[in-house]
Amino acid sequence: MTKLSDLGPPIIGKRHGAEPADERDHFYNCPNCGQLVDQRDARQVFYHEVPGHKPLEPEAVAKVIEFPRRK
Ligand SMILES: [Zn+2]
Repeated sequence: MTKLSDLGPPIIGKRHGAEPADERDHFYNCPNCGQLVDQRDARQVFYHEVPGHKPLEPEAVAKVIEFPRRK
């Protein structure tokens, strides 16, 4: 399965027109695989343009930072 990070670094496109008022307007559901696509990242848009593609494998974006324990 393909991960988003397999596609390389994010390709941030330039938006035509005004920024949408709502953050959710940046996303759409892929008509092929149903996955949510962030239109600000051309990697995701191009990936989901390929006919017959599979949804991208989810990957952890949050990194857990371990703090030293107090004694
Ligand atoms: Zn898709």
